[in-house]
Amino acid sequence: MAPGSIHPNGKKYEIMNGGEIEEISLEQLTKVLKPFMKEVAEIEDKAITQIRHFGSDINSISITNVIPMGNFKKANNGEYYGPNPWHGSSTGMNTWVNPTKNVAFCFRCNAGINVAKAIALQEGIMNNCGEDLNKEGFKKVLKVAYEKYRLERPKNELSIEKLSEALDEWEEEKTKTVNISGRLEDGIFFSTIPVKYRDKYFFVVFTEDGKIIKVVNNYLEKIKNEDIKVQSFLSVYEKRALVQAKKIDDKIARGEKISLLEGVPVSIKDIILVKGMKCTGGSKILENYIAPYNATCINKLEKEGVIILGKNNLDEFAMGSSTENSGFKPTRNPLVLSRVPGGSSGGSTAAVAADFSVFSLGSDTGGSIRQPASFCGVVGLKPTYGTVSRYGLMAYSSSLDQIGPITKTIEDSRIVFNAIKGKDLMDSTSVDNNNSSRFNLDKIKNLIIGVPKEYFIEGVDPEVSRLVKGSIKKYEDLGAKVKEVSLPYTKYAIPTYYIITASEASTNLARYDGVKYGFSKGENLKELYFQSRGKGFGKEVRRRIMLGTYALSSGYYDAYYLRAQKMIKLIQKQFQEVFKTVDVIMSPTAPTPAFKIGEKTQDPVKMYLSDIFTVSVNLAGLCGISVPCGEVEIDSVKLPVGLQIIGKPFEEDMIMDVAQIIEK
Ligand code: GLN
Repeated sequence: MAPGSIHPNGKKYEIMNGGEIEEISLEQLTKVLKPFMKEVAEIEDKAITQIRHFGSDINSISITNVIPMGNFKKANNGEYYGPNPWHGSSTGMNTWVNPTKNVAFCFRCNAGINVAKAIALQEGIMNNCGEDLNKEGFKKVLKVAYEKYRLERPKNELSIEKLSEALDEWEEEKTKTVNISGRLEDGIFFSTIPVKYRDKYFFVVFTEDGKIIKVVNNYLEKIKNEDIKVQSFLSVYEKRALVQAKKIDDKIARGEKISLLEGVPVSIKDIILVKGMKCTGGSKILENYIAPYNATCINKLEKEGVIILGKNNLDEFAMGSSTENSGFKPTRNPLVLSRVPGGSSGGSTAAVAADFSVFSLGSDTGGSIRQPASFCGVVGLKPTYGTVSRYGLMAYSSSLDQIGPITKTIEDSRIVFNAIKGKDLMDSTSVDNNNSSRFNLDKIKNLIIGVPKEYFIEGVDPEVSRLVKGSIKKYEDLGAKVKEVSLPYTKYAIPTYYIITASEASTNLARYDGVKYGFSKGENLKELYFQSRGKGFGKEVRRRIMLGTYALSSGYYDAYYLRAQKMIKLIQKQFQEVFKTVDVIMSPTAPTPAFKIGEKTQDPVKMYLSDIFTVSVNLAGLCGISVPCGEVEIDSVKLPVGLQIIGKPFEEDMIMDVAQIIEK
């Protein structure tokens, strides 16, 4: 392994000492980093500016090494140079030396490779980022880095000659370097840290001796101070979170190891049951309902040690596309408060985008994870139906509902998905996903991307089309093949979806009768039904119950429900045909960026059309992910746009791998 490379192992913090890997404790690690907290943030900003000079669309960076100054040499001109090219001298961009503090920091860009390697790849000096760059290759990199890319060099950087000199000494010298990875890379704060969230993450990582309780407190404070504007939470459980955090801190103090997700502050869509917490489903009818048991996904996450801060707002019973159908309050898009966060998991995506929680779980019946993820500029994964147990998820349309992660990065999405997936005895439709299709950049020439022509039609915001096509072009430039495909049944997807979901909802929601759960009003049985359901349910839910009851009624069943069922089969078949010739399908996640609050509330059909590109994925039993692919400017504000990558059933890893290429 090259010095300076990352060697995540999930649990340990490591020091690389003259080539020997030693394990260190969290306290030791924190001790090393603590004196430099402020400086690290400053240096990091500089690093990003410098890396941007390279012309790369790098947007995140993290520290990989902290090297004692003892290893740096002072040159005649008073400048310093590092013990090996991975430490600083590489391109002059990824190390900053602070002689007064006796320390140097090394950085890694989000491309997952050293900047030197990035140049080497670009220049054909090496072909595969898995290789190590040898000394000769490295010298070539240095030359082009300075001559061709004209990198702006930090003041204390050495001349190219001096750097080459340092390089020559590299192999002879037995250097003693301290190479820290783990906590930043794969500890509780996950792998890649997008710039947008960087400050907060560093704040979290470096403050207060790394105590989880402080971290959790910071998140709770932020919710308290800032969620007044965003309204992404329906309930917050401070005490519970702090007690859990304290327990983890004690564990760390005893020297016990903690798991990857342990201590991570998260939030959950308020339609998934967390024992002892309120679970309203976003409905007045369940205003005071307390969950008596945990959903399976919550059991799994709690076993991993996550800390649930509270429950996120949603469209009532997940019916909606803007979170304006919540029985309690609309959530606002934290990026532009006058706009919706999308829905129905809008509280979850808003909370993650606003950094009120590290990740959230949402549910997706027809796009409710992907569409709001696209509106809020975060990552939303809808796994294949059945891969995540639905036990403890309030049923909306049981044949389509699926739980999935809402995260800031794809790597986080992978970590959370792996933690919650799997067969569960409590949900007979759940299965183990044993598909191991993976993908990496080396195989890009074999990748065939299907682009459905029906997904780039009139009505799609031209800027959204442009950005999505631009992203697809990037894959093409890297060597992938792009193939236009046709999914002519797309036009029937929305009517089919709304007949099926309304029908299932009308039966699923029959259980809220004013007797078994929650809100109850009325003098006699008939009145009890009328009053409890009439007052407890909101307008959209009542509309769907009526629609569903109608579609299922004996005179109309054949005309609507049965035909919709047949249509599902045709849509499924069409996707199967297309997937015989392509590996993944790419499209916009939604036809527009986040719309204004109130813009579509008067016209349910207009609202339904915001799911036009997502519903088919649920109907056809596929998996899909939305990843941010750029921003459009509307009314002089920037709004994120999501690229949807659709995969074959159970190919979640594949679509995440493919998505990661564009994320980088
Ligand atoms: N907006 C769609 C609906 O209202 C999707 C909802 C969802 O996926 N839960 O049904």
